[in-house]
Amino acid sequence: MQQPLYLYNTISRKKELFEPLYAPFVGMYVCGPTVYGDAHLGHARPAITFDLLFRYLKHLGYKVRYVRNITDVGHLENDADEGEDKIAKKARLEQLEPMELVQYYTNRYHKFMDKLNVLLPSIEPLASGHIIEQIQFIERIIDAGFAYESNGSVYFDVLKYNKKFPYGKLSGRVLDDLLTYTRELTGQHEKKNNFDFALWKKADAEHIMHWPSKWSEGFPGWHLECSVMSTKYLGEVFDIHGGGMDLLFPHHECEIAQSTAVLGKDSVRYWIHNNMITINGQKMGKSLNNFITLEELFSGAHKLLDKAYSPMTIRFFILQAQYRSTLDFSNEALQGAEKGVQRLMNAIQTLDKLNPSAISSIDVKWLQDKCYEAMNDDLNSPVVIANLFEGVRWINSITEGTESISAEDLKFMKSVYQIFVFEILGLTNEISLDTSNRLVGDLINMLLTIRNEAKSKKDFQTSDQIRNELAKLGVVVKDKKDGFDWEIKEIQTSDKISEELTKQDIAVKDKKDDEIRKKKMNSYKIEMNFNDSIYTKNISSDSLSTAYNKWIQELDIKDIKENCIKNFGPKSLQILKEETEEFDKLVIKRKPNIWRISPVKLFKGSATISISVEK
Ligand SMILES: [Zn+2]
Repeated sequence: MQQPLYLYNTISRKKELFEPLYAPFVGMYVCGPTVYGDAHLGHARPAITFDLLFRYLKHLGYKVRYVRNITDVGHLENDADEGEDKIAKKARLEQLEPMELVQYYTNRYHKFMDKLNVLLPSIEPLASGHIIEQIQFIERIIDAGFAYESNGSVYFDVLKYNKKFPYGKLSGRVLDDLLTYTRELTGQHEKKNNFDFALWKKADAEHIMHWPSKWSEGFPGWHLECSVMSTKYLGEVFDIHGGGMDLLFPHHECEIAQSTAVLGKDSVRYWIHNNMITINGQKMGKSLNNFITLEELFSGAHKLLDKAYSPMTIRFFILQAQYRSTLDFSNEALQGAEKGVQRLMNAIQTLDKLNPSAISSIDVKWLQDKCYEAMNDDLNSPVVIANLFEGVRWINSITEGTESISAEDLKFMKSVYQIFVFEILGLTNEISLDTSNRLVGDLINMLLTIRNEAKSKKDFQTSDQIRNELAKLGVVVKDKKDGFDWEIKEIQTSDKISEELTKQDIAVKDKKDDEIRKKKMNSYKIEMNFNDSIYTKNISSDSLSTAYNKWIQELDIKDIKENCIKNFGPKSLQILKEETEEFDKLVIKRKPNIWRISPVKLFKGSATISISVEK
C-alpha cells in the first residue's frame, strides 16, 4: 500500500515526506531507558509514540529494523559528566551487582511495556555490551582531531568541531549561550571548555563499573553508546532516530557531533521527538516528588491517584494527544480516557452483532480514508480516534435503525476497526481478554436465548422478569428485529444497584416500545427541502427507518445532484440526524461545510428532511 507519510523532522523544523533510504527497509533507532529504577509515566510516552510509528511503518509494508538501546553504564547523575553513575549508585544502595540491578529493572521494564502492548524492538543492545566498539569510535574521533585526552579521560572538543561543523543545529543552542550558561562543576578543570563532553571517563577508586583502555581504566560517556550502536546496527546513515524532547540537548546534539566528527555527516535522516507529560500542570521531577510509576498507575497506589488505571487506559490517554503536543496527566483526563476506550470497545463488540441491510447509508470508505489521512499527517492519533468515534456513532445509529449497512460494508468496517484500533493504535480489548468476563457474556447470551423462547411462547412474564433482573445488574437489553443485543452499562455489585434503572424507567421504556410497535405499517410522508427545492414522497412502511431507507433508494437523486454540483462542487457533507422524541418526525439537517455520506453520493448543501406519518 502506497501511502505518503509525512513526519515532523526536528532538524528541519517542518513536516517532510518520509522516504526511506533503502525502501522497503527502514532503520529506526530510539533511545531506550536507563535501567536503574521502575518505568514511570514519562517512559510510557516515548515507548508508545515509537511503538505507534513502528506499527504503522510495518502496516504500510516496510521491513523495519527497530533498535532501542538499554543504557546500563555511563549515564551520570546530572546527565552531564559529573556525579555518580546512576546504575552504580543504585546497585550500591540496593547491595546488588550492577548487572543484577540492570537485569532486574530491564525485566520489569519489559513487563510493563508488555502490559501497555508496546512491541519489542528488533534489537535491544546494551551499552556495556559494546565497550570495544565505543573505544574504537573514540579512537576515530581522536584521529579526526575532534577529541583530546586529559588525565586519563577523553573529551570531545566542541569549539574545534564548531569551526568545521555547526554545533547546536538540532537544538538551536548557540555556543555563545553555552559559554555563558554552562555551570562550573567539580573536576571540570580537565576540560578545555565547560561545554566539552566526556567520551571516556577515568574511573575513581570507588567506581565499580570500569573497563581497560589505552587512556585509563574507565567507562564510556553516556552520549557515545547511541552513536556507536545506531551506526553498528543500522549503517552509517539511517532513516529515523527518535526519543523524548528532553534528550534533544545535550544527548542528541552530542550524538550528531560524534557521528559527524567520524563520518563527516549526520547519520540521521529524520529526527523525531515526542513531547513530555506534565502532572497536574507541573513538570515531572524528583524534587517535586510527583513521579508516578506504571506499577502505581496500574494498582492505584500513589497519593496523586484517585483509583487504579488499566494499561489500555494509559495507552489510550497517551494516544489521545498528538505526540508533539504536551500532555497533562490528571485523574479527570485518565477517567475520560477510561470511558473513551470502553465506548470504543463496546462499539467494536456491537459490530459483530449487527444485521446487514440491502444498502448502506454510511460511507465506510470515507472512514478509512480519514484515518489514513490522519496517520499520514505526522501520526495524528487524536484525529484517528475522533474518526473512529464518528464510526461509533454510525454503529449506534445502525443498532437503532436510523442508519443501515450492507453486508459488504459491514465486513469492510470491521476490517477498518481491526486495522486502526488493534493493529496500528495497538489497543487491546481488556474486557474480552478476561476469561471471567467472557463467561459473563456467555451467560447473558444464554439467558436472553431463554427469554426469546419464552417470548415466542407468549410467556411475557418470564421474558420481562429476565430483562428486569438483568437491568438491575446493569445489563441493558435491546430487542432487535432478528434477535437481541445487550450492553453492560456499569458493572455493579448487588448492593449498589443503579438508581437509573428503576422499575419505573423500565415501565416507561416498555410503553415507548409499544407505541413504536403500534406505528408499524404506516404511510410516511417524506418531504425534503434541499437548497430551496422541495421533494415530497409518500412511502408505506413498518418503521420510520425502513421508510427512510426506501425513500433514499427511490429518491430521484439526479436532479438534486446536478443542483448540488452546480452550487457547491462535486463533493459535500454531513447529514446530522435529530430524532424528535415522539419518533414521528425525523429531521435531518445538512450543515454547510460538514462532510457526510448519503447512500448515493456526497453532497454539500442545506437540507431539511421531515418525515411525518400520514393519518
Ligand atoms: Zn540515546
